[in-house]
Amino acid sequence: MALQDEFHFIDQIKPKRVFQSGLIAGIGDDAALFRPTPNMEQIICMDTMVEGVHFNSHTMDPYQIGYKALAVNISDIAAMGGVPTYYLVSIAIPKDWNEADLLSIYEGMAMLADRYAMDLIGGDTVSIAETLVITVTVLGEVEKGKHFLRSHAKPGDIVFVTGTIGDSAAGLNLLLHNGKEHSFTELEESLIHKHQYPIPKVEIGRLLSSFDRVSLNDISDGLASEANEIAKASGVTLRIDDDKIPLSEAILTQFKDRALEFAFYGGEDFELVGTVAASDWDILQKKAKEHGYVLSKIGIVSDDGPAVFLNRNGELQKLEMKGYNHFTK
Ligand code: ADP
Ligand code: MG
Repeated sequence: MALQDEFHFIDQIKPKRVFQSGLIAGIGDDAALFRPTPNMEQIICMDTMVEGVHFNSHTMDPYQIGYKALAVNISDIAAMGGVPTYYLVSIAIPKDWNEADLLSIYEGMAMLADRYAMDLIGGDTVSIAETLVITVTVLGEVEKGKHFLRSHAKPGDIVFVTGTIGDSAAGLNLLLHNGKEHSFTELEESLIHKHQYPIPKVEIGRLLSSFDRVSLNDISDGLASEANEIAKASGVTLRIDDDKIPLSEAILTQFKDRALEFAFYGGEDFELVGTVAASDWDILQKKAKEHGYVLSKIGIVSDDGPAVFLNRNGELQKLEMKGYNHFTK
């Protein structure tokens, strides 16, 4: 194991301050203990990142790996309409990782945790033969009954996405071809930044929670996959207009012909895709604008059974699931 002293390591990653008033015992006992906030539902999720599969030394440095490992989990909490509260980290460390780089991973997480007032309350440290594996568990909470499920879509709803789609995959493409040390143009840098530092959409999720019925999914595996998950869970058809997909200036400049491919099948944007009642759309868009969030209407929901169709110049084409799937590639 790369670590001489596991206890010394844990001592260093132990947070110096506490944000959440419900925390009774964090790192240092057999388990963490917290008091759930009254009238809130508790949310929990977990995501694992594996060296060589989700990142490597050509695409991400340790700080970014930490940032992203936490960001992808916070994004899942956002997609439920909640706010994040606590996180736990299990890390399997191969021999070729040193303590400074490991601490850097925790600093990347702490940067984001500070922003959202989250406390690191535990984890596990083990050794592994070859590649670093980091598993993050995040807890969050949402007002009783205010959560969003993928099954909430109904015929007549508007389909929307936040931000611009496809940038992260375009950034990854640049990194894989050139390595992270390459000197990129400003536009290229903006795509790479989306890959290395995705911003979870917690605030937009909270804004959405003032609406009665919202279906929501965060875009981790590509818009095609996430839209199909909503269609399947709700038993409805999503009709998406391909000319309404919001694409950044950077992706249109750098990857004009592949922009939609990245948007549908690329993944890791950590934007949100969802549906709201058509009668809520105007007020939602107005509210979003007031807060400086970009929401785009990309289609409508109909009752033709669970599927996603893409409208390309009036021609309907079935949009299959095939996002990034670890077991079919
Ligand atoms: P135990 O043997 O009781 O499982 P450990 O010695 O593994 O306890 O861990 C001691 C404390 O440090 C616990 O509070 C645990 O949650 C925390 N911890 C261990 N490894 C990590 C880690 N990689 N990140 C964050 N907290 C950790
Ligand atoms: Mg242990």
